[in-house]
Amino acid sequence: MFKGFYQLTSAMLSQGRRLDVISNNMTNVSTAGYKAERYTDSTAFKEVMLSRVGNNDVIEELDGFMEEQIRAAGIDCVGKELTGKLYELNPQLLRERVFGQKPETVDLGVSAVSRPPALCPGCPHRGFFYTMSRHKDFVVAGDIGCYTLGGSAPLNALDSVVCMGGGFTVAMGMARAFELAGQTDKKVFGVMGDSTFFHSGMTGAAEIVYNHGNVIPVVLDNSITGMTGHQDNPGSGYTLQGDMAETLKIEDILSAYGYKNIIIVDPQDLAAMEKAVQDALASAEPAAIITRRPCLLIKRIRHDIGKCQVDQDKCIGCRKCLSVGCPAVMVENKKAKIDPNQCVGCTVCAQVCPKSAIARKEN
Ligand code: SF4
Ligand code: SF4
Repeated sequence: MFKGFYQLTSAMLSQGRRLDVISNNMTNVSTAGYKAERYTDSTAFKEVMLSRVGNNDVIEELDGFMEEQIRAAGIDCVGKELTGKLYELNPQLLRERVFGQKPETVDLGVSAVSRPPALCPGCPHRGFFYTMSRHKDFVVAGDIGCYTLGGSAPLNALDSVVCMGGGFTVAMGMARAFELAGQTDKKVFGVMGDSTFFHSGMTGAAEIVYNHGNVIPVVLDNSITGMTGHQDNPGSGYTLQGDMAETLKIEDILSAYGYKNIIIVDPQDLAAMEKAVQDALASAEPAAIITRRPCLLIKRIRHDIGKCQVDQDKCIGCRKCLSVGCPAVMVENKKAKIDPNQCVGCTVCAQVCPKSAIARKEN
């Protein structure tokens, strides 16, 4: 009975506070310098937590982030001593760790199909990595982000991934090593995304040009932070809170460092991508490449989405389209087939087909 009243009262208080915030925002919306208030209330959180959750067990993966916040709000709870810090918390693991019950397993006698991680269908990075995978005569130092998947089969287009920022600094180290070994013709590409560039790539980009590195830095600009869940970055035009912000231009930064030949290319156009690589290699002045196409998962952008289909009469089953590493392309009855539920019509597979058997169907 008491618990019910408590719930009712805490809900009433929360609603009251929420209405205050809404009415304040409505009143001030036309005021110069207006900034919307947001509704957060740790007192209400504590009340709701205590009233709705009987025992305060916190189940979260890895570090005890929520546990720490809840304790800081003055609520006693149990967390990491229950779940431990290691591994993804699946139901079996939780059952074992929280209730001490070993999970029952059944051997079905079948082995799971191997599914290596892959770039998403329509990923803007695919065109760049496909282009790099066609060249075996230079070294590619990668970095940490969604684009690290360019190192997986069948693209296999990264030779190293060490740490954030390492795309440029490791490339620089490799170039120095080649130079010391007398291999002055060896070209090294350093690769990282736009977000990584702002996070820890700018110093490496400066070092390459300052110390005359035989390196071509490549920034894969998909206008967002893909790997960790679409956080904005200084190049996206928004702050992490979603407010409008100054957009830092990667090309302006590279130009300020001293790069004289900055090539901006749409990586989805494979011919243009190849030309960009060749132009950068031939450049007598410090060159850099920016591949620019936004991630298809950015909701605030209207994307050009379609579907590609394979003409079964034209297809000769050469499997070349599989080499772009798109999860939507498969082989059935010795001919290529595209899963219409996954394809977004980027046309990268169509551009590599020697028989023009793949075409985009307009919606
Ligand atoms: S590349 Fe073209 S011809 Fe070859 S399997 Fe794919 S669709 Fe068929
Ligand atoms: S067009 Fe080809 S590469 Fe692009 S999403 Fe569809 S199947 Fe994948």
